[in-house]
Amino acid sequence: MKTVFVIGAGPAGLFAANKLAQAGHQVLIFNRDIKPGGLAEYGIYPVKEKMKSGLRKQFAKILSHPNVHYFGHVPVGKEYDVPIELLQEFRPAAMIFAVGAQGTKKLGLPGEDARGVYSAKDFVYHYNLLPPFSKMDFSTGKRIAIVGMGNVMVDIARWLMLDDPNRQTEEVYVVARRGPFEAKFDEKEFVYIEDYLDRADFQDELKRIRDRLAAVGQDISKVAEATFPVLAKPDPGARMPRLRFRFLSSPCEIKVGADGRIERLVLTENLLVARDGGTAAKPTDRTFTLDVDTMIFAIGDVADPRVGLPYQSGSYVTNPAGNGNESGLYEVFDPQRGQVLAGTYVVGWARRASEGLVGIARQDAERGAVHVLKYLENVSEQPAATAEEIARSFARQGLQVVDKNDLNFLSRAEEKQARERGLASFKFADNESMLAAIEAEKTHSGSPASTG
Ligand SMILES: Cc1cc2nc3c(=O)[nH]c(=O)nc-3n(C[C@H](O)[C@H](O)[C@H](O)COP(=O)(O)OP(=O)(O)OC[C@H]3O[C@@H](n4cnc5c(N)ncnc54)[C@H](O)[C@@H]3O)c2cc1C
Repeated sequence: MKTVFVIGAGPAGLFAANKLAQAGHQVLIFNRDIKPGGLAEYGIYPVKEKMKSGLRKQFAKILSHPNVHYFGHVPVGKEYDVPIELLQEFRPAAMIFAVGAQGTKKLGLPGEDARGVYSAKDFVYHYNLLPPFSKMDFSTGKRIAIVGMGNVMVDIARWLMLDDPNRQTEEVYVVARRGPFEAKFDEKEFVYIEDYLDRADFQDELKRIRDRLAAVGQDISKVAEATFPVLAKPDPGARMPRLRFRFLSSPCEIKVGADGRIERLVLTENLLVARDGGTAAKPTDRTFTLDVDTMIFAIGDVADPRVGLPYQSGSYVTNPAGNGNESGLYEVFDPQRGQVLAGTYVVGWARRASEGLVGIARQDAERGAVHVLKYLENVSEQPAATAEEIARSFARQGLQVVDKNDLNFLSRAEEKQARERGLASFKFADNESMLAAIEAEKTHSGSPASTG
């Protein structure tokens, strides 16, 4: 039996932990957030309650394994409370980084820091009540541009048009650098917002770009069967708010009002060109503007450089020699020394940012775990610090760590709040309230503090 540290308790970290614990190893999980689940808890659309609660049950089962220990509210990284070097002092046999894609892809546009300009991840964290985003200003106005054409765009448009209790939305513009044939969202997700599609505007937009699509052999009469099946359904008539698309358009400048908030978005018109068997956008010198008071980038994320793993072009560096050898895809590689960081692995969205649904993150983590298990077979025993020793060390450092028992207290406190407020469910929206609720439940139950 060896001790493995897993950093991050999203789907990838938890499913990797499961594999290792099942093989008889001790697994210590360190998670930035108090609660486990990552984007399954704080990203998946709020009303997908059945999916969320199904995942929560699976995660609770993994955490209940006696070999699995949980340290929540512990951000790991060179710019966070617990640098990697400190974890190494506890002598794990291997470390698996499953921290997701917490870095933001900046476009480097003039005006990008204006109020009302948000990254999709931060916006989604806000409406899913992840501290500290839950308490930050993510105000939206009447006219909103969402850049990107995947499922995250659909979730955000759905929130803005249907579910945000503070919504003032009149128009949502989806801005896409390529055309309608390159839409990436799933039809079953788009169904939720399709009645708001401004059909007349959509047809005008198709006409506007028809010749540019024809240049790469795309025919606008095929859009309905290819990517927008809604067009084959009867038009429900004009609805508010209106959902509009601006294809072959890339943001090039954000105009900021006297109040510091975005007031216009300048877009470059693109051509579509054939490239590598697919298509690519090629900018022209023509521009146009949209009057918008809010802009949300939903173009995927990058790995977080503040963790301190070797980092290049938005990703943690993995073993380049691993091409023909799958284990290399998961091994962290130090390009300066030209060698693998022994026993250090990445899985899930930390390995391939913003790639796929929970099932894909799970598969990736379980595959990675198989390679970690092989590595452990050949590594010599070294006595690692125990969960209790690490908890004591963190306490000395002044960290308020949340363990498995605390998570049960927190669930109980949230269930109580839901009952008292007559709600189906309730979530505390800041860390202080969660920590206070845990303490209150502990005192109420007369339970001593515990670790692991
Ligand atoms: C808006 C949105 C909606 C989605 N909807 C769906 C859906 O409906 N269905 C579906 O199947 N998939 C959905 N997905 C995809 C799904 O959420 C991901 O596939 C999955 O969560 C990725 O898992 P992960 O564990 O790699 O990363 P994450 O889920 O991001 O988990 C990362 C974990 O690492 C922790 N962490 C981060 N940094 C640190 C650090 N420095 N130190 C310690 N811990 C750290 C975080 O606290 C978090 O717990 C959605 C994604 C998004 C963005």
